[in-house]
Amino acid sequence: MEKVLVDLVRLQDLDRSIARLSARIGGLPTEIREKEQVAEALEATASKMDEERKALLVKADGLEVDLSVDELRIQKLEAQSREARDASSVQIAQHEAEALRTRVSEAQDQALACMDEAETLATSKEATLLEASQAQEVVIEFRSQAGEDEVELLQELEARQGQRAEVAARVGADTLHRYQALYEPRKGRPVARMAEGACEGCGMAIQPNDQGKVRVGKSVMTCPSCSRILVDAAFWARAKE
Ligand SMILES: [Zn+2]
Repeated sequence: MEKVLVDLVRLQDLDRSIARLSARIGGLPTEIREKEQVAEALEATASKMDEERKALLVKADGLEVDLSVDELRIQKLEAQSREARDASSVQIAQHEAEALRTRVSEAQDQALACMDEAETLATSKEATLLEASQAQEVVIEFRSQAGEDEVELLQELEARQGQRAEVAARVGADTLHRYQALYEPRKGRPVARMAEGACEGCGMAIQPNDQGKVRVGKSVMTCPSCSRILVDAAFWARAKE
């Protein structure tokens, strides 16, 4: 029975590394996806910047058209005031021309501001596109690395599963069944070391009489509190050799 107890500790170690390896293998596609999303988000930002830039240029064009219409009207008003016979007609024409000049000047300022902003956006867009292409490179690199890692992890997993099968066969069906039944409820720790007279799984002090039984290892003893299979520290150490 001592050997079985040692094997139970080995089994628990193997199951834990199998679980870790499976989680890592299973997590690789998610890690790739996360990196892809970073690149995609940057590309989306760049294309949004480009749309904004185009909209600003359209707005600037519209302003230019409006102000050229106003400029034509100003020229016409200037001609009118030169040719006008009476002072009041001159004044009306000049007054209107003045108002239009103010509007033209404001429109020019606005158009310039739009173009400045568009230029800033063009620069930002280029920078973001560069970042996006770097993020894409990271994805490609990670994908190939993940592929290599996956091969290694799968090999390791296979090796551990092979070892597990051997150990499980040695343990025997009944004990294995007890171990399995506790595996999930005890979160992958169905076996606990007994050290200094206590169960390390839950901290419960074991009765001196039962401590003796755990120490000799002639039977499978369980913790009265957490039901874990108790293994004396000496056997536990042998499993780690
Ligand atoms: Zn316990």
